[in-house]
Amino acid sequence: MKIAVINAGSSSLKFKVIEMPSAAVIASQLIEHIGEDGGVSDHHEALALIEFDLRSIDVVGHRVVHGGEFFSRSVVVDEVVMQKIDSLSILAPLHNPANLMGIEAMQQKMPEIPQIAVFDTAFHTSLAQEAYLYALPLELHNKHHIRRYGFHGTSHAYIASQAAKMINKPLHACNLITLHLGNGASACAIQNGKSIDTSMGFTPLEGLVMGSRCGDIDPSIVLYLQRELGMQPYEVDTLLNKHSGLSGIAQENDMRTLLQREDEEAKLAVKIMVRRIQKYIGSYMVLLEGKVDALVFSGGIGENSKEIREMILDNGMLKHLKSLVIKTDEELAIAQECYAIVSGD
Ligand code: ADP
Repeated sequence: MKIAVINAGSSSLKFKVIEMPSAAVIASQLIEHIGEDGGVSDHHEALALIEFDLRSIDVVGHRVVHGGEFFSRSVVVDEVVMQKIDSLSILAPLHNPANLMGIEAMQQKMPEIPQIAVFDTAFHTSLAQEAYLYALPLELHNKHHIRRYGFHGTSHAYIASQAAKMINKPLHACNLITLHLGNGASACAIQNGKSIDTSMGFTPLEGLVMGSRCGDIDPSIVLYLQRELGMQPYEVDTLLNKHSGLSGIAQENDMRTLLQREDEEAKLAVKIMVRRIQKYIGSYMVLLEGKVDALVFSGGIGENSKEIREMILDNGMLKHLKSLVIKTDEELAIAQECYAIVSGD
């Protein structure tokens, strides 16, 4: 079965064709600068640039960032599903509209082929109320859907299933702490194979220190920036999402460069990031009552940087944890989801 995987971002479209069940990648293409100078105008035009002959495709799997409280698993797309994804654009204004455009463009191109939506939030719909609610007036959740959703779910689910194989235990019996450390970064506490807590929240801004996102801060800072420094909401948004994290402290979000630099700012940026990761691991160890089968490192930094892994584990409590390094593969995870749905597995 040939599965096309579409990951439509606001200005890019990643396309892969994966043969299942062998998991062989038979095509891969990246189209960038959509809607920008020098690029095509929209996702429909971007799909026209795909060189692979789409007539041989059996199923299309789409990464959809926000599934809100509607979607706890992957679904075959129909009109109702599309309306729901659209209604969640208010919570993911950069991503869901782009994901929808990708779905619409593929539907037009191949209307008879099933399209499946795979949600970044789905894995975290197992969070209990006390994990997903903020200590805010409940009305903000009930009326305005303000709660922790969590993201990177496809990646956390994939690395958890790989970890289970590596430690030779059924996933439903595994307690894990998974770290997806890329430019975006998040941690997840997994109990008996299910996500019970995760570091990203209402948006991907919460939690760990990332390439250019601040992660956890005192929310009063936002008010202070607006009140005392006269910043507009969109300026605060840009500051916290694009000019903070490693970039904010050391003007650099590439971990390879940071690790080569000798200056204090670069060292400080890395130390702040590592300390935040350790705090999350510690709190997840408590949630898992100390029963942790493995700590799993993934994402560009987690997979490639022994130095960062060692810095994280350089702690009396953490050095005894069994640690694994697992390469995440979100496209393969999406293809596996599609294959499971279509083959009724
Ligand atoms: P994204 O979230 O954009 O998908 P990736 O998962 O590709 O990001 O991770 C990007 C990060 O991984 C960058 O900070 C990059 O510097 C870092 N990285 C990649 N290879 C290495 C390496 N060998 N050592 C340290 N960091 C690395």
